[in-house]
Amino acid sequence: MEITGTLQRRSWDSAGLPEVERVRPGIWSVPVPLPNNPLRYVLVYLLELDDGLAVIDTGWSTEEAWNALVAGMGVAGYAPADARAVLITHIHPDHYGLAGRLREASGAWVALHPADAALIPARYGLDVTALLANMTALLIDAGVPADQRDELTGASMGIREFVAAAEPDVLLADRVPVALPGWDLVTLHTPGHSPGHVCFHDRERHLLFSGDHVLPRISPSVAVHVQQPDNPLADFIDALARVRDMDIDEVLPAHEWRFRGLAPRVDELLEHHRRRLEETEAALRAQPGSTCWETTLRLRWSRDWSEIHGFMRRAAVGETLAHLVLLERSGRARSTAEQPVRWYPAPETARPSS
Ligand SMILES: [Zn+2]
Ligand SMILES: [Zn+2]
Repeated sequence: MEITGTLQRRSWDSAGLPEVERVRPGIWSVPVPLPNNPLRYVLVYLLELDDGLAVIDTGWSTEEAWNALVAGMGVAGYAPADARAVLITHIHPDHYGLAGRLREASGAWVALHPADAALIPARYGLDVTALLANMTALLIDAGVPADQRDELTGASMGIREFVAAAEPDVLLADRVPVALPGWDLVTLHTPGHSPGHVCFHDRERHLLFSGDHVLPRISPSVAVHVQQPDNPLADFIDALARVRDMDIDEVLPAHEWRFRGLAPRVDELLEHHRRRLEETEAALRAQPGSTCWETTLRLRWSRDWSEIHGFMRRAAVGETLAHLVLLERSGRARSTAEQPVRWYPAPETARPSS
């Protein structure tokens, strides 16, 4: 993997915000800050059209983020009113948060994949009672101790203020070109990090706008949660395989920095999850009958568990659950129907006695 966003990488090392950059004729990268967040910024891309701009992702709905987006558009010679299309890679607040405000300022159409659009009412609507009740039930099943459940249940409610809930005008479909005059841009459905995550493939320039699907440094969170109940890690691994062998000159991700070498980066992400599955399986063998919570505590995390709180702690439980579910679906683990659910390794294949 080769870092092509060298200025972005350099500013990362100095803990600053990278510059607005023209990455190709007609394509601009605008970092929009994410305060108090280890990701630091989301990279918004501006695509020049004959009559304005298409904007890929937007940033959190805060004044600071809006001002950074407007300033970035200004560097490129545009204003918010010039937006014609707002293409969203996925529903998370750092990508979707300002979509509604940008539409109000411009009349642009907002596009999102239907699987993420379906989550808007429960997630960002006025009544989150059902979402919270389902979350509590999931945490009980996972074996989260009673004294931690409230903190983990409500962990993502604070972030709702960073989103102005806006229904999309256009639903994106897998492998269908986006209606942008002058651009050969195709949507690729890449679920896992969120059910409706998409990448955009610029077939003419051999670029991949990868959203959070493939990032150069971190492995995106893939978690079971109430809005992603089935087997998201299997979806994610399939979606990595879908993009691995594409003919791509440069990957333009939504965080960190631009890079070249999609296949080697995909291989690193696949290897990360292969090892994590092994580690999870080994934890079950060491303590058969563990809950998801107990298994989570046995795994290694990027920092000490005592330093992981709230939303991050819940994400960790959801990520462990994603690995447990994939192990079960592939015959390497099984779960009971108790409450909390208990997990066992698959029986070792019978060995001839010696
Ligand atoms: Zn995300
Ligand atoms: Zn993100």
